[in-house]
Amino acid sequence: MAKKNLAPDHEAWKEKLQKIPLQSKLFWAHSLKRFNTLKVGGAAACLVDVMHTEDLSRLLPFLRQEQIPWFILGKGSNLIFPDDGWPGVVLRLSSHFKQWEVLKEHRQIFVGAALADVTVALRCASLGWSGLEFLIGIPGSIGGAIAMNAGAHGGEISQYLKKIWWMDMAGKVHEAEGKSLAFAYRQSPLNGKLGTVVTSALFQLEASDPETVKARIRELQTFREEKQPRNIPNCGSVFKNPDGRYAAELIESAGLKGHCIGGAQISPVHSNFIVNQGEATAQDVLALIDLVQKTVWKTHQINLEPEVQIVAKDHY
Ligand SMILES: Cc1cc2nc3c(=O)[nH]c(=O)nc-3n(C[C@H](O)[C@H](O)[C@H](O)COP(=O)(O)OP(=O)(O)OC[C@H]3O[C@@H](n4cnc5c(N)ncnc54)[C@H](O)[C@@H]3O)c2cc1C
Repeated sequence: MAKKNLAPDHEAWKEKLQKIPLQSKLFWAHSLKRFNTLKVGGAAACLVDVMHTEDLSRLLPFLRQEQIPWFILGKGSNLIFPDDGWPGVVLRLSSHFKQWEVLKEHRQIFVGAALADVTVALRCASLGWSGLEFLIGIPGSIGGAIAMNAGAHGGEISQYLKKIWWMDMAGKVHEAEGKSLAFAYRQSPLNGKLGTVVTSALFQLEASDPETVKARIRELQTFREEKQPRNIPNCGSVFKNPDGRYAAELIESAGLKGHCIGGAQISPVHSNFIVNQGEATAQDVLALIDLVQKTVWKTHQINLEPEVQIVAKDHY
């Protein structure tokens, strides 16, 4: 892998990182565009495909000790990376974190953090177990869904969390009952930015049958096809819905539907989505976010809070 665009201050920790005995793959000066659904952002100084928990338990204390900016990436479906890249390490859990185990007698599933939400929805449907159908429309990973307390159509992932495992910055694995953790609307006590990496989870599902669950999934898919932009890069809902209101409705009534800055556009299909028309930069998207916040405030005196994670250099 080419080693380019590394700022001089990367050199010191770079050598130390290479000396850690790891099975994980390290990619230097690696573009992040392909790793986020909005398709923006520069390169990470180092992208690590984390092979297993042993490697993770070596990496996290190292990153903390060396004070290296780091970031845990899921499927990048709720992120805006800066155009000038990420000066530190981006961690990505590899396929070894895609465990899937069915505990038939308890109607539970044990799932690795890197498994796709869509895969989990479909596998639960085949089992005829209900609850996580809403994951069908969320193009993230289970780790990202827990970190964001992802939800849709009245469901939230935390509702079905029986148990969860995560690692702290000392490399220690923790385990807790889902109910003991304080989840809120698109908010979780477990997120990389809080120094915790979710590694796996146990979900409790509800009894149903495959046909009913599959029919519900088809219904949700049709809803998304009709109401949301398709086949164009985006990061899902950009803003959280304020109490009792819909962000999309506020943006639309502020006259911003379809508005463009550079290559970024407020989707003409759904005003709470920003789409990348092809050549959008993170800067274009951030300028549009700023414009929306100011205009909605001026029009409705309501402060729209971003749901999308704006990755900044001082993130960690
Ligand atoms: C078309 C579209 C539709 C969407 N619809 C919905 C929806 O209906 N409901 C909804 O809630 N969201 C929706 N989203 C947003 C997004 O898919 C979710 O927030 C998703 O859960 C993010 O998962 P991810 O793996 O992509 O995480 P990323 O975007 O990679 O990361 C998001 C955050 O989670 C952290 N994170 C990721 N993995 C871990 C981990 N293992 N441990 C700790 N922290 C971690 C990251 O550091 C970051 O802070 C949509 C997005 C798109 C593009």
